[in-house]
Amino acid sequence: MKQAIPIIEIMSKDPITISPDASAVEAANLMRSRAVGSLLVVSGGKPIGIVTEKDFVTKVTAEDRKPSTVKVKEVMTSPVVTVDPYQEILEAAKTMADLQIRRLAVVDDDTLIGLITENDILKVWPALIEITRERAEMATPAEGVGVGYCETCSTFSESLNLHNGQLVCPECREE
Ligand SMILES: [Zn+2]
Repeated sequence: MKQAIPIIEIMSKDPITISPDASAVEAANLMRSRAVGSLLVVSGGKPIGIVTEKDFVTKVTAEDRKPSTVKVKEVMTSPVVTVDPYQEILEAAKTMADLQIRRLAVVDDDTLIGLITENDILKVWPALIEITRERAEMATPAEGVGVGYCETCSTFSESLNLHNGQLVCPECREE
């Protein structure tokens, strides 16, 4: 095994963020001017979703919608899953594998401080993604991994967790 690497060492700091009420045009222009492929969607200082170039292709262009009339919150992927900056990248890779996602928001003390992507991990430890994908079926996700809208009842929650394949709030996990 390699020496433990904390997430904070390889994450991108000061991720570029956008409001859920911004238009798809504003988001696309921001991505172009900052040369990034994704933006964290932040409301009240908290990450609630991620919007990527792919979201625009599949949810705006492919559906023949006018980008200036589409809001970021309509096309973003939510909830966004968060990790602690001082956890090892192994934990981030496991979470990505368990939830089949490629990006995690890094949150320290309720403050958004970074973004870690599968590519960031691949750059420093290429084998890790494969290892964790293979064992993903056996893994148990940590408590309170997600922040955003429950996939069952659509209530905002800061402790979404995987339940029957969906990220749901504590109330829906009890049912
Ligand atoms: Zn719920």
